[in-house]
Amino acid sequence: MKMFDLSGRVAIVTGGNGGIGLGMASGLAEAGADVVIVGRNTDKNASAVATIEAAGGKAMAVETDVCNEAAVARMVETVVAERGAIHILVNNAGTSVRKRPEDLTLEDWHHVLDTNLTSAFLCSNACYPHMKAAGGGKILNNGSMLSLFGSPWGAAYGASKGGIMQYTRSQAAAWAADNIQVNCYLPGWINTELTVGARKYAPDLEAKVTARTPAGRWGEPQDLAGLAVYLASPASDFLTGTAIPIDGGFSIGI
Ligand code: NDP
Repeated sequence: MKMFDLSGRVAIVTGGNGGIGLGMASGLAEAGADVVIVGRNTDKNASAVATIEAAGGKAMAVETDVCNEAAVARMVETVVAERGAIHILVNNAGTSVRKRPEDLTLEDWHHVLDTNLTSAFLCSNACYPHMKAAGGGKILNNGSMLSLFGSPWGAAYGASKGGIMQYTRSQAAAWAADNIQVNCYLPGWINTELTVGARKYAPDLEAKVTARTPAGRWGEPQDLAGLAVYLASPASDFLTGTAIPIDGGFSIGI
């Protein structure tokens, strides 16, 4: 098999209907993968499939709330029934509640932890037997700069993103023997609906992030495409359990 060739590989991307997830899904499809878009919004799902197909890729969508165990099980059954196998899982779906720690409600906390962390647990465990049956697989977990740093506005979000980095290491240690590599990617500041929301709260965020980022700009969803292909392809077969910043140097800049 060629190093970056994903032909014949079935790739599930949660939250693949927009933002970072669509950037990664498009990269995987361009490398030959048969992509499955997973999200709740039917229109956004259909539009993401159309975008990938218009670029010459292969895609389908399965409407799913990734916080719901039964829905995740149904989604995985559908993918296996329609595509025959699962080789790649990108646990990308995520959300944020921007409040100081003392203002977060228990509902906020569960909403963020369920969406960002528990969903990865549910999707990974549902896919694991199929990856094992296929002789191996690749799991990509979405972290954040808040896997590394703290923020007064990110207590629940940071807990979920620190948690997923550690969860990645345990998954990687457990499933290496099954030829399943599990890695976490830590995006810096990327232009998406999520960060449009953050910029409404903090009008100086745009300039502050640009000033601190050695690359001198915010990231775009397509900046994630190459890393997605690498982490999903045979090129990364000896790489597992890592947490890779993809941030224009934000995490090493001063
Ligand atoms: P978007 O808001 O554009 O995308 C979020 C995606 O998650 C959507 O596709 C949404 O689809 C999906 N989603 C949310 N909740 C659920 C759910 N319960 N079930 C299924 N899908 C769900 O934001 P981003 O692209 O920015 O975020 C993607 C990931 O990247 C998140 O994990 C985020 O934390 C992370 N990230 C983003 C950064 C940035 O700067 N943008 C930086 C670091 C990390 P739908 O609503 O249709 O369900």
